[in-house]
Amino acid sequence: MSVIVQKFGGTSVANAEKIRHAASRAVEAKRRGHDVVVVVSARGHKTDELIELAHGITQTPRPREMDMLLSTGEQESVALMAMAVHELGEEAISLTGAQIGVLTDTTHTKARIVSISTERMRELLAAGNIVIAAGFQGVDSSMNITTLGRGGSDTTATALAAVLDAELCEIYTDVEGVFTTDPRLVSSARKVERISYDEMLELASLGAGVMHSRSIEFAKKFSVQLRVRPSYSDGPGTLIAPETDEANSIVTGVAFVRNEALITLVGLPDQPGVMSSLFTALSGARIPVDMVVQNVAREGFANVSFTVAEDELPAALRVVTSAAELLKVQSVQHTTELSKVSIVGHGMQTHTGVAARMFQILADSGINIRVVTTSEIKISVLIDRTRCSDAVEAVHSGFGLHLPDRTLPDVGQAAIRPASVHAAEAEVVADIVSRLEGMESILVSDVSADTQQSRITVTGLPDDPGVARDVFAAIGEGGVLVDMIIQNVARDGRASISFTVPGNDLDRSLQLLQPFLDAHAGTTLTFDRHICKLTIAGIGLRSHTDVGRRVFRTLAEQQINVEMLNTSEIKLSIVIAVAQADRALQSLRSEFGLN
Ligand code: ADP
Ligand code: ASP
Ligand code: MG
Repeated sequence: MSVIVQKFGGTSVANAEKIRHAASRAVEAKRRGHDVVVVVSARGHKTDELIELAHGITQTPRPREMDMLLSTGEQESVALMAMAVHELGEEAISLTGAQIGVLTDTTHTKARIVSISTERMRELLAAGNIVIAAGFQGVDSSMNITTLGRGGSDTTATALAAVLDAELCEIYTDVEGVFTTDPRLVSSARKVERISYDEMLELASLGAGVMHSRSIEFAKKFSVQLRVRPSYSDGPGTLIAPETDEANSIVTGVAFVRNEALITLVGLPDQPGVMSSLFTALSGARIPVDMVVQNVAREGFANVSFTVAEDELPAALRVVTSAAELLKVQSVQHTTELSKVSIVGHGMQTHTGVAARMFQILADSGINIRVVTTSEIKISVLIDRTRCSDAVEAVHSGFGLHLPDRTLPDVGQAAIRPASVHAAEAEVVADIVSRLEGMESILVSDVSADTQQSRITVTGLPDDPGVARDVFAAIGEGGVLVDMIIQNVARDGRASISFTVPGNDLDRSLQLLQPFLDAHAGTTLTFDRHICKLTIAGIGLRSHTDVGRRVFRTLAEQQINVEMLNTSEIKLSIVIAVAQADRALQSLRSEFGLN
């Protein structure tokens, strides 16, 4: 019989009435002839309350005891849900993570699933039960209770759907579906009918809290049909599914993370192995780094910046400071009260001028950009936290996301145009399932090298709103598809921006930039006609700290220097010298078993 997984989030099981309502959906599905597995979160604000309770006792609770505590929230919900199903006349059995056999690694409070045993669930389903599973929790190999990180019930649900080969996984929540941005912040946000796995992965990992990003990794790896639906009505919600060939909107959504901190290592020796040491240290401490930017080195020294969630700053600084001593870094600086705003959409792969428009919209609102990183389907900027809401609203309406047909409003010079795309770029992750090992083990599906690219760097830019817009408006006007944009933190009031362009567009790009350079005294331009852009494609590349570590260690072993770097959830892009392309490709392919 076909299996359906239904997940109910905290607000959808907040009180007895809501639990009864949720139970009735499960019973309906069962009576329509499905085997039903229900995954439940803790009620309402239960998890927050438990965290607060712990902090009333200690500011540094041990993670193992936190998991013991937090897992009780879900245990309460599953029992109540089973009782509600019984009241409706069907059989149901509640199970904890341990009872289902959700085996995780030992990283308390952010554990990853290693395997799930289906035997007990299958037996219970075959005997006519609705299985009520506690979300968010598992056990490690020593039977310690673990939790999967905030919002982790979504991941439990998609993982169960994956192992049970479910026909559908429904995520019931307190909004109509996935919106163009958080509807609580922007009232004109619109619901999206359908969104691709990659877009949802990027949006979720960039802050769209409606789905736990790791749940989308499962959905993508195992082709789980996911539908995000309102629990309070019969709305159809949003389908999260493979990308289709239909015309995509240029931008599908805007995501933000309000509390980010930026760490900059100033004066890193520009030599192989440096990034490897840094990432190994951070990965060892399980600190996911975000928005890693390394701009082109000057006078033998590079500056590397990355953001971490603000509450991880103390831990990250401890790790970085000791790594910095070994690496003889000149100084380690940090800034707080920053926010990251990102746009995501497949249309960016096929249109020029998207970045220029984003920068223009921000400039028009007087918002200064501190750091920029991009991937094929996203652009992220780091800005002052006080401007976060303004930025999200401005970008949302600037891309026409509030309009029913998403027509692009006219914002003046930054025109968006279709571009011709290289076949290699358009090729995305394929045939993934065949290489699965552990359930949540990282998945690098492809490593490729593009040696047809050139690099342009503009330095000495005034650190003002509007500068990035002017640079990319100039290039976009010429229809050149810009890739891998990196803007690192300004120093002494001067910023620099690097980006790559297709090699045969280099001369034209240089011409297009000339008027800008003439108009801005003190700016200089350098370029490298032949570079190699390595692309490591897969799933969960940014949140799984181990990928960066393995990539940089492999390159360091080959004595290959990282010149520029961009990260996203589905791609890692690295610029290296063109002469090293073959060696890099071979060593990385063998590191990730792709030969
Ligand atoms: P649940 O408890 O059901 O898991 P969450 O609070 O985790 O619910 O997720 C739903 C919330 O996600 C919504 O109330 C909304 O404020 C927020 N959200 C953030 N970004 C988006 C988005 N792009 N689309 C829809 N909701 C979003
Ligand atoms: N109860 C957990 C949390 O609040 C897990 C979840 O809701 O998905 O984060
Ligand atoms: Mg949630």
